[in-house]
Amino acid sequence: MQDLPDFSRRDILAGLSAAGLAAMSAPAFAKAPLLNTQAPAFYRFKIGSIEATVVSDGPLDLGAPQPDIFKGVGKEEFAKLLSDNFLSTEKVKLEQNTLVLNTGDKLVLIDTGTGSQKLMGPDTGKFLANLKAAGLDPKDIDAVAITHAHPDHCWGLLGEDGAKIFPNAQVYMSQEDFDFWTDVSNAPNDMIKGFIEGTRKQLLPLRERIEFFKDGQEFITGIQAISAPGHTVGHTIFMISSQGKSLCNTADLAHHHVIPLDRPRLEFAFDTDGRQGAATRIKLFGMLAAQRIPILAYHFPWPGIGYLAKQGEGFRYYPSPVQTAL
Ligand SMILES: [Zn+2]
Repeated sequence: MQDLPDFSRRDILAGLSAAGLAAMSAPAFAKAPLLNTQAPAFYRFKIGSIEATVVSDGPLDLGAPQPDIFKGVGKEEFAKLLSDNFLSTEKVKLEQNTLVLNTGDKLVLIDTGTGSQKLMGPDTGKFLANLKAAGLDPKDIDAVAITHAHPDHCWGLLGEDGAKIFPNAQVYMSQEDFDFWTDVSNAPNDMIKGFIEGTRKQLLPLRERIEFFKDGQEFITGIQAISAPGHTVGHTIFMISSQGKSLCNTADLAHHHVIPLDRPRLEFAFDTDGRQGAATRIKLFGMLAAQRIPILAYHFPWPGIGYLAKQGEGFRYYPSPVQTAL
């Protein structure tokens, strides 16, 4: 075996600066304009015979780390946890990974993104453009399954003018979330009151089209609802199965791919019941880790597909390699 050359840091820096000098003195052959565009954000994969497409609604911008987003974690500690994981300490971003399933019989969408409301930064509201880029038409969606009635999961059902975005779709959700998020008297503060007012505008006009699923029910062939309360009263995750393969859409069991996995007992500020949310996370993540079932996590880094494993007191997320061919 050949010995590897021994590069010192000084050699590398010297090499870099030599290259830098060469670049500076090289003639400029082209001045291509910066394109400032990104590839359309959809990602296709298979679950048995089901064709699945993750469609992004664009990232939510949470700004700089704030204290007590994870209860008891101060601003500095939050920033250190991000920095230790090579993540930005200036802008905390959460993706919105919606999922379209072609079961062969039905075209099913799981969660809609924030729709036309720019609640959390300018980069949201990309769902319809990305859906189109993926070759899919909202008119062809037969069913929309909602994991829970928060703005970033169901405010894309109706447009700003009240028109149905998915005119031919049945909507499936839990009755607990429908009841909670359409009743302003449940709001403990003005932020949640605003959420409920916005959610009423989305859900009440669709009431005739909404069917409630029950815990454990396979409400569409191959898609089973599993009650996962805490983040909201009726928060539900979906087990998707076909031909012996499974994937679990874990919705908002965890909002970040490191912090609430490392320390799953941390209570999350946006949970209706943080303590119950933590208990549900530990129970269901434990099951998914033990059974090595792949997950799609709504807010994890694009496209949000990977595995969970037990690690220490908590879990570790192993993102699956992105496939460039189906
Ligand atoms: Zn969410």
